[in-house]
Amino acid sequence: MQETKTEAAGFRLSPQQQQLLASDGAPGATQCAVLLDGPVDVEQLRAALDGVVARYEILRTTFVRPAGMRTPQQIIGEESAPAWSLEEQPSAAGVIADDAALEALMALEAGREFDLERGPLVRALLAGGAEESALLLLTACAACADSASLSLLLAELCESYAGKMPTEEPVQYADYAEWRHELIADEESQVQDGLAFWRDAAADRPAPPRVLFAQRDRPRGTQRAAAALDLGAVGLDELQRAAVGAGVTVAVFLEAAWHALLARMTGASELLVAGWADGRAQPDLARAIGAYEQPVPVRCRFQETTTFAEILDQVRRSRALAVRWQDCGDAEDLAAVAGQAAAEWTFSAVGQLPAPAREVLALRLAPGDAPLVLALRGSDAALTGELVYDPLAVAHDDAREIARRFVTLLHSALADPSLPVAQLEILEADERELLLSASGADAPAAGAETPVHERFEEQARSTPDRPAVLGVSESLTYAELDAAANRLASHLERLGPVRQQPVGLCMERTPSMIVALLAILKAGGAYVPLNHEHPPARISHQLLDAGARVLVTEQHMLASLPELDATAVCVDRDAAAIADRPSESLGSVAALDDLAYVMYTSGSTGTPKGVAVTHGNLATYAASIAARLSAAEDPAGLVFGVVSAISTDLGNTSIFTPLVSGGCIRLIGAEAATDGGLLATELAGEPLDVLKIAPSHLRALLAADADGVLPRRWLVVGGEALTWELVGQIRSRSPDCRILNHYGPTETTVGCATYLLDDQQRPDSLTVPIGFPLAGARIYVLDPRLGPMPAGVPGELCIAGAGVAAGYLGDAGKSNDKFVADPFAPAEGTGRMYRTGDRVRRLRDGAIEFLGRLDDQVKVRGFRIEPGEIEATLGAHVAIRQVAVCAEDDERGGLRL
Ligand code: AMP
Ligand code: MG
Repeated sequence: MQETKTEAAGFRLSPQQQQLLASDGAPGATQCAVLLDGPVDVEQLRAALDGVVARYEILRTTFVRPAGMRTPQQIIGEESAPAWSLEEQPSAAGVIADDAALEALMALEAGREFDLERGPLVRALLAGGAEESALLLLTACAACADSASLSLLLAELCESYAGKMPTEEPVQYADYAEWRHELIADEESQVQDGLAFWRDAAADRPAPPRVLFAQRDRPRGTQRAAAALDLGAVGLDELQRAAVGAGVTVAVFLEAAWHALLARMTGASELLVAGWADGRAQPDLARAIGAYEQPVPVRCRFQETTTFAEILDQVRRSRALAVRWQDCGDAEDLAAVAGQAAAEWTFSAVGQLPAPAREVLALRLAPGDAPLVLALRGSDAALTGELVYDPLAVAHDDAREIARRFVTLLHSALADPSLPVAQLEILEADERELLLSASGADAPAAGAETPVHERFEEQARSTPDRPAVLGVSESLTYAELDAAANRLASHLERLGPVRQQPVGLCMERTPSMIVALLAILKAGGAYVPLNHEHPPARISHQLLDAGARVLVTEQHMLASLPELDATAVCVDRDAAAIADRPSESLGSVAALDDLAYVMYTSGSTGTPKGVAVTHGNLATYAASIAARLSAAEDPAGLVFGVVSAISTDLGNTSIFTPLVSGGCIRLIGAEAATDGGLLATELAGEPLDVLKIAPSHLRALLAADADGVLPRRWLVVGGEALTWELVGQIRSRSPDCRILNHYGPTETTVGCATYLLDDQQRPDSLTVPIGFPLAGARIYVLDPRLGPMPAGVPGELCIAGAGVAAGYLGDAGKSNDKFVADPFAPAEGTGRMYRTGDRVRRLRDGAIEFLGRLDDQVKVRGFRIEPGEIEATLGAHVAIRQVAVCAEDDERGGLRL
């Protein structure tokens, strides 16, 4: 490095300094606290400091913005200028003995702003100079000294205090800064590779994943807090041995553990971590003082089977490449890496300092841009460190938890680096217990032991004259509905075997459909809800697959239905015969294990799969959702709107909940159900009390600016993620309506978790949480090995309890993949568990947040779709050789295939 600065008054900033001084905020402070053997000769210390500062221009540099220029220049002060300050504090006792007091003192010092134009930019604080043990705390502007600089500075300071003046000429920082700029502008091919490295790094940057509960969209603060790492039990020998065994340095081993932990906590398949490089790759910089350290991109890819050893290798390579080209990054490159990274990683090797220094108590870097920085220091004697975090972005409890998990994972990786990252331990035993107890209890809600049609019969006996179902032109009281259903049940029974048999149900959304549905249950059959608007091939597949021998329908639909291999009962055509049947109940003919319905849902291999739901399942759901509503208000007498087809399980909430609790069903025709204006007109004067609807459906209805569609009491929203934006819309139009987010797959009987919104915004959850388990359900967040995931960590939502369906009808293989033994069942081997494929995490209060899917299943306008089903169907066409189906965002915030 040759002299290039001559006549100019100021010098260009290095890329590191540009990055640090770019934002209008302060560049931050680097700090080092050392224990000195006292008493200290203060005058001698001052003289030593004077000497060091005189040797290094950067320690007497200030930053002045020339008029009309955006970036400051560095101005080197005279050797004799007062460039540093030394303050004295009489007592060191409190600070040395008490970590918290030292922490507080350092935070206080770091928080004192530097006057960048005037200086001083190096401050020394001497506590207890007259005592046997004194504390020297150096606080330097990060644009002047990095953490290694403080160690070097202290070493020289101690030597010259002891009378040994260094002789060799130091490299001056302004020369280095010039050299960096010239290097980047160089045409040499070797440097071209370095420039390409940074160009690629900028182009291919994975989106930073959210780390635990870190909030998004909030301005990042400049203040930092720290959570201690309890590394006492990490054996340095063991660490050394493991690192050598893996062919890496101790620092890389630790860095890989940090990557592994971040991968585990975020579930990200690719991570970019800003790793710190010491910036002193050029041989003559080894002992240079200045802002040399800089962020470099270190990245890792993770798959389910990736082992820790593979991560060690990835980190080693990625870091080596980044360090090789570290000098070729410009300020923008550095800022981009630091700003985009999920988290930062620093490691400082702390060497032995000469007397009178006894021990380095703390070494602190200026806060980086990432909300989370793992800062470790290693010496021959100890490994120490802390998790430095932005308290605006990361809650204190979370930071403490991350710190603990890092240590747990490190132990696990040390014990066996050949383990897959997914299997490294991050949970402590007591935490595991706590997590499982938060999964929910098995206690069912009252009424869960009685089939829904029997509970309906009880209700009909106690409130015969109450309206039970309202259609557009027709309505039925409880007594009328019961009698009509009994007659049809008796008719069905006479036709042939319906008991424990699937019975097709294909009808318009009228009160007759509710009659038919109840009749099938009363006759001991299981209904198979069909949608007459579906293609005939799909309907016939469902009837055939279910083995339905009887189909209850309406005459005008017969023409559009496929060739039937089943006896059709047309409730209109056969009305006279049905009317002749007795109106008394057939008596109890259904057991809880009998099937209640078979609901078809999209199947990834090309054909829809039938989910077999038992009476026990359905009774559990109806009872628990009724209990959920009752907790706030007795649902008896409330009017429940049905706006979706019964061939999806969305309709079930609004049909069985009222029937078992004395409410009333209001059926909305298909036309009004898709036209907000029409619906509002239809409901004018008689608003709904309860409406269960999918968010995309509701959004479409509200787009018609029709406030009248919103119910008075309860809006139950489910089937897809509920956005805060939609909640805002609902709130502004109908402030008194309670909003219940309702979650559950068909395979666990409509619903298993709910979240009642209160007035609080929840910045910890990107969408409205799906909440807490309904009575009788247990919901777990599990890793791929079905072990519990800690709070905050994404995993697969798995559901156990009385709502878990019997399986997929006639498909044991598929059932065995998705319905597995519940590993946490109270008595081993007793329970079953459904793996939803939903990616979720448990929030701090125990509520579950929905994060998306683990596979490519999507919801399009509330309908569950496996792209594979469509691919298989399209692919079967003779003219189609290859096919791919993907979902993409549409203009209205939904999805389109
Ligand atoms: P389905 O079987 O049609 O009810 O679809 C179940 C799937 O819909 C779940 O596995 C989730 O992926 C999604 N889902 C259902 N309810 C919600 C909800 N409240 N929030 C987010 N996703 C939901
Ligand atoms: Mg559902």
